[in-house]
Amino acid sequence: MDTTLAARNPVGWSLALLGIVLANPPAPEAAAAEERPALAVESSFEGGSGLVQGIDQQKRLIRLVPTPHKDRGWACWWFVHVTGIRPGETIALDVGDGPWATPDRAMVSIDRRTWQHTEPGKGSGGRIEYRRPIDAREAWFAWGPPFLPSDAAELVRAAAARCPAATPFELCRSREGRPVPALRVEEPAGEGSRRLGIWVGARQHAWESGSSWVCRGLVEWLVSGDARAAALRKKALVIVVPIMDVDNAAIGAGGKAQKPHDHNRDWSDNPYFPAVAAAQREIRKLDAAGAFDLYVDLHNPARNDLVPFFFVPHRQAWPDSGWESLQRFLAAARAEITGPLAYAGMLRQTGPAYDRQWQTISDHWIRRNARPQVLTLSLETPWNTPHSTPEGYLRIGRQLGLAIERYFQSPPRENRTGY
Ligand SMILES: [Zn+2]
Repeated sequence: MDTTLAARNPVGWSLALLGIVLANPPAPEAAAAEERPALAVESSFEGGSGLVQGIDQQKRLIRLVPTPHKDRGWACWWFVHVTGIRPGETIALDVGDGPWATPDRAMVSIDRRTWQHTEPGKGSGGRIEYRRPIDAREAWFAWGPPFLPSDAAELVRAAAARCPAATPFELCRSREGRPVPALRVEEPAGEGSRRLGIWVGARQHAWESGSSWVCRGLVEWLVSGDARAAALRKKALVIVVPIMDVDNAAIGAGGKAQKPHDHNRDWSDNPYFPAVAAAQREIRKLDAAGAFDLYVDLHNPARNDLVPFFFVPHRQAWPDSGWESLQRFLAAARAEITGPLAYAGMLRQTGPAYDRQWQTISDHWIRRNARPQVLTLSLETPWNTPHSTPEGYLRIGRQLGLAIERYFQSPPRENRTGY
């Protein structure tokens, strides 16, 4: 029904339609219309995003772009709820605009819990069309597997329920007053043992939902009964923040390059975002206690980056001993991150040639402020491969945990050369 006409004539049109129905048996085309209810799209839920440009009810085709959010970063993330599907029919989704919003495969779910890739879409000129038979009356489509602030809260809650050493805490409230869930995993230190400290953060860029799934894989491994997870818990305090930019993750904005800058360009002496300020405060405490050894930041890279790699501060920022430790960590990563998203040794450096705001990237803040032997790196997990799924991300997260455990099998060297 044309809802505009119905709204203008709520009573008159209804009576008129009723009269037609009573007077005549349903025409064949009316019966067909009943079997093909109108497709509708909405995104007014946590993490939702999708500005509908048009729906062709005959072709069962939906055209959309990410919902624009002024000054809230790249418009690349989209996540919509489609209703009015006739079970078994194929739904077409034509999405724009540009390389960041158009992964080769979209994610689809009929229960909002289990996410699968569509077949590769067909596209040109910055748009892509995905087609997917849906055996349900409703479905959710998204740029990637969603991971929302409520998922972060559930992750830390479930981790604590599973492992007595794990304690959820609120890192802080965001600028918009949302809780920033975090997890502390710490077992009582053994007699005379030195306590190591590890910080893992994800989603300084809100659209990079895959990085939170990697984080989840790491957390679920860390609190599991795996012997190597237990060994790491015994020697290290691990703090995990599954989503740093909860505000943009909550409203479905991209976050990257938001105004005045994004979370991973906020690591100055005067941070704008409470999550960055709180992380700095906690990290300084650990470091001052001599209990901070590793910082890992989790990201998703550019669309053509199809293998995992690490970003680290440029060579000049490292003492020789730190650079040697990094090589040892990378060897551990090669040994453990074996695929299908395998780490084959790629390393990229950030510095003045990478970004004029390089000094306020978290890794550089760590290098400047923590003790010289502290290792700092960012794992970039590809989002545009057939393995960029919940399963693929969870697996690389678990493997990252194993790499960390392997790295700490020999104690980190103390620095001898200074920064
Ligand atoms: Zn990022």
